[in-house]
Amino acid sequence: MGAPLVSLTDARGVVLSHCPVLPVVRIDLADAIGCVLAEQVIAPEDVPPFANSAVDGYAVVSADLISGECELPVIGEVAAGAPADLPLHPGAAIRIMTGAPLPAGADAVVMVENTVRLDDGRRVRITAAASPGQAIRSAGDDIAAGTVAFGAATFIRPAVAGVLASVNARSVAVIPRCRVAVLSTGDELIDDGSPLAPGQIRESNKTMLLGMVGESGAVAVDFGIVRDNEAALESTLRRAADACDAIVTSGGVSMGDYDVVKSVLSRIAVMHWMQIAIKPAKPFAFGLLTNSLGRQIPVFGLPGNPVSSLVSFELLARPALRQMMGHSAPLLRPSLRAVADTPLRRSKDGKVHYQRVHGAFGDDGRYHVSARGPQGSHQLGATALANALAELPDGDGVDAGGDVTVYLLSF
Ligand code: AMP
Ligand code: MG
Repeated sequence: MGAPLVSLTDARGVVLSHCPVLPVVRIDLADAIGCVLAEQVIAPEDVPPFANSAVDGYAVVSADLISGECELPVIGEVAAGAPADLPLHPGAAIRIMTGAPLPAGADAVVMVENTVRLDDGRRVRITAAASPGQAIRSAGDDIAAGTVAFGAATFIRPAVAGVLASVNARSVAVIPRCRVAVLSTGDELIDDGSPLAPGQIRESNKTMLLGMVGESGAVAVDFGIVRDNEAALESTLRRAADACDAIVTSGGVSMGDYDVVKSVLSRIAVMHWMQIAIKPAKPFAFGLLTNSLGRQIPVFGLPGNPVSSLVSFELLARPALRQMMGHSAPLLRPSLRAVADTPLRRSKDGKVHYQRVHGAFGDDGRYHVSARGPQGSHQLGATALANALAELPDGDGVDAGGDVTVYLLSF
């Protein structure tokens, strides 16, 4: 008799409760994109640092232009990057470029489009009125010195990094990317391009999982194919636990005689062997392996069938890795209620099924999904083209035109 089935929610609860956020590190800003800020950043400087012109044009005293059109002598020029050492007095203009500091005395800039250059640039005709502050970007009007630029837990997308650069945050305290060892297990697997000997198959899971780990924001480390040999597997797992923050294995967690992942991890780690009430990906192993420094390294033992490997990584390992990297809820992919354009059939078996579907937004503003190809847990071909997982509760499935919850894998 197999172990009792646990719900996906309970299984995920066990996993998440053993995957704490990684310790904070301080890294160069250039390496921080894709990480989560560990502490708030208070801007040490104003952005912009000084009042400057938003346009190419003429710095003026707005009181000179109350009545609209007028002609003024041009007493100088100021470009971006140069100091504005020449003050402006009423009754004159200074040529100014975008980003150049506003000369003392000026309180508005007229854009070049509203001017006519006269007398070889010595005079200018202004053809529009100006109001105080016009086309001026004042110091600190983007970010003021002393204010919180970003709170802790902000995800450092490229624009956030741009702002951090602009306030001179050259290094930042972040939750680091999780380093994840990925290894495949099985005597039947090859990946060296050689002809298949009888009984051999080509490896696919490691290639796929290295990519999925990377896509989750973590750093994937390839630990190769390990044969169904206890000593080899134990030494690889121990090396991985010393080098990485988490380990993802595929294969060898079922009930077969050669399921050495099961026998080795049972011996060297504290494990939860789960049978989850989902299809595919019913068998799943999770545990903690203590490394040589006494650190507990989470181990995700995914099933060997490629589709099961993909689904259990998505539903269990990925949320845990994201939690370790400081991401806050929701840890799961975005989900929505979609329209099934084709029937999504299943039979009653006490499990929640995750069918791989392809979806897109329709003209009606709703997300439409359809089944793509055979759904066997060894048939990665059809799954590879899916961009969403349709969640089918126990029952007969969904008719064409019916509603179904889907998780968006890419969009
Ligand atoms: P296992 O979980 O080791 O019993 O493997 C279940 C099925 O998945 C078997 O048909 C294996 O040959 C296949 N399998 C296991 N690992 C991989 C892999 N890395 N790439 C492709 N197929 C695999
Ligand atoms: Mg195997």
